[in-house]
Amino acid sequence: MMSQKVPFNWPHMTGKELHYIAEAHLNGSLAGDGPFTKRCHAWLEQKSGTAKALLTHSCTAALEMSALLLDIKPGDEIIMPSYTFVSTANAFVLRGGVPVFVDIRNDTLNIDETLIEAAITPRTRAIVAVHYAGVSCEMDTIMEVAKRHHLRVVEDAAQGLMSYYKGRALGSIGDLGTYSFHETKNVISGEGGALLVNDPDLKLRAEIIREKGTDRSRFFRGEIDKYTWQDIGSSFLPGELIAAFLWAQFEEAERITTQRLASWQHYHGQLETLEAKGVLRRPIVPESCQHNAHMYYVLLAPEINRQEILAKLKQQGILSVFHYIPLHSSPAGLKYCKTHGDLEVTVRQSEQLIRLPLWVGLTTMLQDKIVEVLCDAVN
Ligand SMILES: *Cc1c(COP(=O)(O)O)cnc(C)c1O
Repeated sequence: MMSQKVPFNWPHMTGKELHYIAEAHLNGSLAGDGPFTKRCHAWLEQKSGTAKALLTHSCTAALEMSALLLDIKPGDEIIMPSYTFVSTANAFVLRGGVPVFVDIRNDTLNIDETLIEAAITPRTRAIVAVHYAGVSCEMDTIMEVAKRHHLRVVEDAAQGLMSYYKGRALGSIGDLGTYSFHETKNVISGEGGALLVNDPDLKLRAEIIREKGTDRSRFFRGEIDKYTWQDIGSSFLPGELIAAFLWAQFEEAERITTQRLASWQHYHGQLETLEAKGVLRRPIVPESCQHNAHMYYVLLAPEINRQEILAKLKQQGILSVFHYIPLHSSPAGLKYCKTHGDLEVTVRQSEQLIRLPLWVGLTTMLQDKIVEVLCDAVN
């Protein structure tokens, strides 16, 4: 028995969060788009090279803004993987859009770019590329298919801050990109997110949609002398306390990534023998991708019962979890979405995947213990 429980996730605080929250409090500016929000926007724009970054109260909100910005209408089809978080699909369904699921790649568990073209119909409007585990989709191919068929591309880069594809930041490659700062991600603000507006033509409307459908952002910049209702929108912006917290995290984003990568590498080395024995497969990161160690997962061999492994880990105090119940098999997915082709890889891999604890501060000693327990469990 281990004396200590090992949580699956442990939100990492950099130490400056309360300091900056106190500063925001002193500034007396608590609504959205104050000094800390502006700093966060500038940081995201500089890091990613996007035309415009906008903080939102979640990645879900940034995805909903994307569906509004792309004018998704009832019956419009959006191609995406079924192996993703609910919000990827739900954001479009809210506008009457119909997610069309295609299968994922066996190596990265990202959308299989070679299957996209066959799923395109006259109703197709967009492709959503979800960068699972902070490992990039094959963006060159996806962008090329989109261009040929005049489709928009949204990157769900919820897990992808500080990851790169051929040197370009994830989230900055499609027309729009979304990040999450939920406490389970690498860089956090409890709840939080951002929209990257990479197509400069969408910049002004993105600001309007985020500010309740008004041109208040232009008014604050002094570009107009009053603001009015311009378009449909909602309130998608976080208050300054959240931005102040997030700023403390942005300042340490490089260090957080480096530390997570060290833990990721440690698991990867320690699990090599189990992979060689054929009882599990480790993650595969293509050459084109520099990842951010958002997640360490293993894919158990088909003959291994995942529930038993998770239960054995739990008995030893190790909290490990599985990941996505594919959306096409969920009650809402059955009701609102379509499937193109069989989703053989999605179904098979989602049933055998387990995520191991990974957080800043996880020691190599604990990791070795986790590997040892996993090793006993699968043998
Ligand atoms: C976490 C996550 C989201 C949702 O992010 P929130 O900030 O919690 O709304 C969406 N998509 C993916 C792929 C995610 O991992």
